[in-house]
Amino acid sequence: MPSYLHSFIEDVATRNPHQPEFLQAVREIAEDVIPYIEKNAPEFIDRKLLERMVEPERTISFRVVWQDDQNNIQVNRGYRVQMNSSLGPYKGGLRFSPTVNLSILKFLAFEQTFKNSLTGLPLGSGKGGADFDPKGKSDNEIMRFCQSFMTELYRHIGSETDVPAGDIGVGEREIGYLFGQYKRLQNNFTGVLTGKGPTWAGSFIRPEATGFGLLYFVERMLYEVEDSLKGKTVAVSGAGNVAYYAALKATSLGAKVVTISNSTGTIYDENGFTAEKLDYVNSLKRNLQEYTKRYASEFHAGKKPWQFPCDIALPCATQNELDEEDAKQLIGNGCFCIAEGANMPCTEEAVKEILKANLLFAPGKAANAGGVAVSGLEMSQNRIGQQWPAEKVDSKLKKIMHDIHDTCSHYGKNKNGRINYLKGANIGGFVKVATAMRAQGL
Ligand code: GLU
Repeated sequence: MPSYLHSFIEDVATRNPHQPEFLQAVREIAEDVIPYIEKNAPEFIDRKLLERMVEPERTISFRVVWQDDQNNIQVNRGYRVQMNSSLGPYKGGLRFSPTVNLSILKFLAFEQTFKNSLTGLPLGSGKGGADFDPKGKSDNEIMRFCQSFMTELYRHIGSETDVPAGDIGVGEREIGYLFGQYKRLQNNFTGVLTGKGPTWAGSFIRPEATGFGLLYFVERMLYEVEDSLKGKTVAVSGAGNVAYYAALKATSLGAKVVTISNSTGTIYDENGFTAEKLDYVNSLKRNLQEYTKRYASEFHAGKKPWQFPCDIALPCATQNELDEEDAKQLIGNGCFCIAEGANMPCTEEAVKEILKANLLFAPGKAANAGGVAVSGLEMSQNRIGQQWPAEKVDSKLKKIMHDIHDTCSHYGKNKNGRINYLKGANIGGFVKVATAMRAQGL
């Protein structure tokens, strides 16, 4: 390993103990960016741009106290990592999950820096959330939690300062409760959050955006190798928003989606999910095994989708859900393309296997940028007080995903003409942010 790269990673590890996910994300980027800047932009090394980028501009941690339905007092921890504001207001989702901690949020905020840069929109980066588990909570409990969370967060955010959105555990319902509380406290109806409902200043296509954008990206990758989604067998993991709309779009583009999963197991439907079947999956909430009672299919308890033969794998659940063994199994079964709908769903070892086998690999920071891109479009609509028709937002989304593809191709094309999308996304995302930081001084 070259010495600057080695000492950089050692230094970040020493300064950020017990943050494995954050270090994983940093390593993944540094391994591409450092050789690039050593060769092409040594001034970025002198200006310590990467060292500055791994340090959040601000990290806020706060107490969230709320009362459950039995009147017990509950205490959670809330966070907002304001990572980088060189391209625009901090932008990134809020995650509510018992797994939330600073390492997870810093990795997500760091990824967001590159992702938001790749969208081409004026968006800085951030991420936040709480170690709160929304599973099994009543609607009133969710509302009280969101109100208490916003009672602290509101002083740190603003439509031109920091604009949170949803992530795992935070959807339109939670954004509604958070927005209501912000408005109550500030007496100001403003675009401080994205992912709002379409009747109250939200954007059409925002719920669909990450999943649709993922498929627009995959479509473009396949086009590059003179192929298409028609007739391809696709394995999707997850059963949330991203997975649902990814599966729906893949189906509408002529692919056959054979799996949907959650942490309890995987549904394998050899005949492929139709829009109607996907709606039914959605109505089941977490009880996926019920699906087998209505449609010819199998439910594999505790199993991930990666054991089933497919041409294309779309991990859309959560970080590190696809490991080295899974990658080997997919490759062995003939899978030729893996595109990340979730953030960093492939482990470091899995990515190495995938690249070694020369698969088409789309990293989440490029392939799942459709969500934050439409958030950026929601901010634009809020600023001018308009709501664009769904078709207009969808076509802008498609164009953004194609442009991201082309940026990856520009920075990631190897001598043999193949595109290393991970390298392209890392370098393409970095160059824009580094240039802006440099221009803005220390
Ligand atoms: N949570 C999403 C992501 O990982 C969207 C963030 C946003 O819309 O601000 O990119």
